[in-house]
Order: sequence, then C-alpha cells, then structure tokens
Amino acid sequence: MTALKLTNVNKSFGSVHVLKDINLEVEDGEFVVFVGPSGCGKSTLLRVIAGLEDATSGDIHIGEDEVNLTPPSKRGIAMVFQSYALYPHLNVAGNMSLALKQEKQPKAVIQERIERASKMLNLEDYLERYPSELSGGQRQRVAIGRAIVREPKLFLFDEPLSNLDAALRMNTRIEIANLHRQLGASMIYVTHDQTEAMTLADKIVVLRDGRVEQVGSPMELYNNPANQFVAGFLGAPSMNFLPAGLVLDGDTRTMGLRPEDLYLSEDGAFAVEVSHVEQLGGDTNIIAQMKGQQITARLFGQHAVSAGQTLTLGYDAASAYFFDASGARV
Ligand code: ADP
Ligand code: MG
Repeated sequence: MTALKLTNVNKSFGSVHVLKDINLEVEDGEFVVFVGPSGCGKSTLLRVIAGLEDATSGDIHIGEDEVNLTPPSKRGIAMVFQSYALYPHLNVAGNMSLALKQEKQPKAVIQERIERASKMLNLEDYLERYPSELSGGQRQRVAIGRAIVREPKLFLFDEPLSNLDAALRMNTRIEIANLHRQLGASMIYVTHDQTEAMTLADKIVVLRDGRVEQVGSPMELYNNPANQFVAGFLGAPSMNFLPAGLVLDGDTRTMGLRPEDLYLSEDGAFAVEVSHVEQLGGDTNIIAQMKGQQITARLFGQHAVSAGQTLTLGYDAASAYFFDASGARV
C-alpha cells in the first residue's frame, strides 16, 4: 500500500514559487530521504505534508485519505524537528505523554507506550529528568520518543541531527535506522547531508530549487545519476567535473570522474601538481591542479605524497560520466 502520495503539489509564498509540481509516492514501511542544498524547499515540502502549510495546488493523500484540508493533528503523522523544543517544565515522561493526554488516551495506554518507547530509545533511566538535565543527544531522543508514542502512520523528520556533534550524529543515525527496522513505520527524513541520505534511505528524493531532480535507491543514484547536479551532490568528496577535451580530442562535453575512481598510474591521463593532501589514515585525498582545473583523487590506504609534487593519475574509461552543456547525462 502507499503511505503517501503527492500529485502535482505546488507551493508559493506570495510571488515566490517554492515547490514546483512535486509528484511522489512513499510505500508502506519505506524510509524516504529528501535531500538537497539549503533553501531548495525540503522543509516546506515536509510542512505541506504535515499540514502546517497549505499547498497552493495539488493533492496530498496519506494512506487512502485525501488530506488537503485535514488539520495536522488529524493526519496521523508525527514530526520531529531540528530544534527539539521540549517543554522545559515537564520531565521526560511528561514531555512524551503530553500529546497522548491531549488525545485523552487512557492512563494504562500512556504508561505502556512510554515504557515501550523509552526502552527503544534507552531513556528508561531518565524519565524523571527535566530537559535541562539531559545532553543534546538525550533531548533529541526524547523528541523522537514523543513522536513514537503517538504511533503515527507516517513519521516526518526535519534535519533532526543537525544540532548534534559528529560522533553523536553517527550514533543517533544508527539508532534511527534501528528504530525504523523495529517499528516498520513509513518515515520521511529531510537532510542537506548526503551521507545521512546515502546511509539511511531506502529511497532518496533529490530536490533542487523546488523540483524533484531524481528519485531512486542510494546506489541507483550513485551509479546512475540522471544529471550533473545529482552526480555532484551524492558522493564525498564530490565528483570531479572536467572539460572532456582535456583527454578526448575535440570532445565538448563535461566529463565526470569520482575521486575514488582515480588512481596513481605512470602512464595515466592526467599529469597533475599536488596542491593539498588530506591524510585520513584509512585513505588519502589528493587535491591537485592540472591546466587550470582542480582534480581530487581518493586513494585507498596511506600514500607518501605532499604538496608541490607532480604525479600522474589514471582512470578506467568505464568509470567516466559525461554531461552536455545543460547538465543532462549523455
Ligand atoms: P530547505 O528546508 O530546503 O532549506 P525551505 O523549505 O525552508 O528550504 O525554504 C525554501 C524556500 O522557501 C526558501 O527560499 C525560503 O526562503 C522560502 N520560504 C520558506 N518559508 C517561507 C515563508 N513562510 N515565506 C516566504 N518564503 C518562505
Ligand atoms: Mg529546512
């Protein structure tokens, strides 16, 4: 069954057209990530799905129901925001139970759901604590718990990890993936971070300037990007874009080469001068210059390379992508 279906959804704020003809389906139990640069319309799209903003035109179905005019509280969704906005005067249990009390759920139901959610989120020992007595990661888990206890048909996450430090972000990312497996619920997760998108999603929706650029599994998008924007957005370090004429006489296209597809080679295609080296231990990023172009290579393992050195990089013809002047894959 389909958990969510958007048909020709548009959203304008006054004369500013923010969402442009969005068509999209989320299957039951699917983890869908909306990814794109800041300002491309991710939050607006999530808020339109939640009912916090009205679509200017188009249809929104959640499950079987058309919800265009349904208020947020009746849509069967729960939303987790970047700023977790817990009630400071309520303890963890109080924060998690508030919505259920407002729904007038029986005490036993509330008790049971809080127990289950706090066990899932490792918050059992913190139920009596107030938000000011919790770490950032714990607060974000309470915010997620508040969503879980409502047993929504659809979870909406808007950049929930942005306020956490790098180590905590990775742990919480894994927790969210586990949670999705345990709950089997449909989830939509918004992020500008391609790593979060690649690691969490069953299906990635790449947005740019209010339009859907491409939809597919992480590996479909990585291996088979429809255009230069998607190719450059997914993968880190980003794909190199070079005039194909540098190595293919008379070719006017743009050539795309992933840093991980370049290697050191005596008779390689690119004679480069190294301008910077990032030694990461497990691998080595080489940033180099060649005929006024910058090229980044990601080499597996450790390499004794330093700035100022010249070397030659090679690639296999099969690993090259090509784009026309409009950015379309050719
Ligand atoms: P993202 O979440 O991808 O960073 P947003 O959805 O927040 O992007 O914003 C998309 C665009 O819509 C931005 O240009 C933003 O300025 C504009 N926008 C968002 N909300 C409003 C609003 N209430 N009024 C006017 N413009 C808005
Ligand atoms: Mg946003």
